[in-house]
Amino acid sequence: MRVDYHCHTRLCKHAIGEVPQYVERAIERGIGELGFSDHMPMPAWYDPQSRMAEGEFDTYLGWVEGARRFAKGRVTIRLGLEGDYVPGTEDYVRGVIARAPFDYVIGSVHFIGDWGFDNKLNIAEWKKRDVGEVYAQYYGLIAAMARTRLFDIVGHIDVVKKFGHRPSASIDALLESTLRAVKESGMALDINTSGLRFPCREIYPSRRLLDLARAMDVPVTLGADAHRPDHVGEDFDKAAALLRDAGYSQILRYVSRRPEPVPLG
Ligand code: ZN
Ligand code: FE
Ligand code: FE
Ligand code: ZN
Repeated sequence: MRVDYHCHTRLCKHAIGEVPQYVERAIERGIGELGFSDHMPMPAWYDPQSRMAEGEFDTYLGWVEGARRFAKGRVTIRLGLEGDYVPGTEDYVRGVIARAPFDYVIGSVHFIGDWGFDNKLNIAEWKKRDVGEVYAQYYGLIAAMARTRLFDIVGHIDVVKKFGHRPSASIDALLESTLRAVKESGMALDINTSGLRFPCREIYPSRRLLDLARAMDVPVTLGADAHRPDHVGEDFDKAAALLRDAGYSQILRYVSRRPEPVPLG
């Protein structure tokens, strides 16, 4: 089976299309479970232009419920959320997650301090930074996120490569210590095909990172990070081939935040 657990709606203000169109595309692409995981509300100071407003949270729940009715008997719909990890917002995030019966919650790092490093509007800042230092800070945040135990799935774990910035030296030690924290947290990795759409031209995570994860028995899910309907399930044959090649024959599905392995289709 294939799941697509990373899917946005236009409530986040940078995705387009209507929820039923996302569902239709999932059916066309043979997805077994489509999970919506739109960008969660956050405290007002944090990146309001890239997420649903707090007052739209119930609208989001209603849209996913509507998707469930629309999809009935054709594709299973899961209620997810893409959460943000920013030190200091843990209590707020915990409160939002407690407000609905989520099947799973993705945790992502999109900011280093006040720099939204994966937003093309902020790309100039990369020129002022040392790439190796950015990677160290980024993976430090991923490990800290894992230790919060707030989330089920690490979103696009190496999104720091999005615009093609690569450190000159090996970062295996950094990746291994990060993956140890992920493993201890019980989280899975989001095998996210959206990296293929960006200058890094590579699935998140890289083959190297996936090999290290496989060696530690870190589980995986699948997501296209759809921001419009035709993204749903995009490049999943490539993702499945990558997973198989790295030695994965199972992925996880989630029901009420409980993971369950299913054979990778
Ligand atoms: Zn987004
Ligand atoms: Fe993200
Ligand atoms: Fe996303
Ligand atoms: Zn994402």
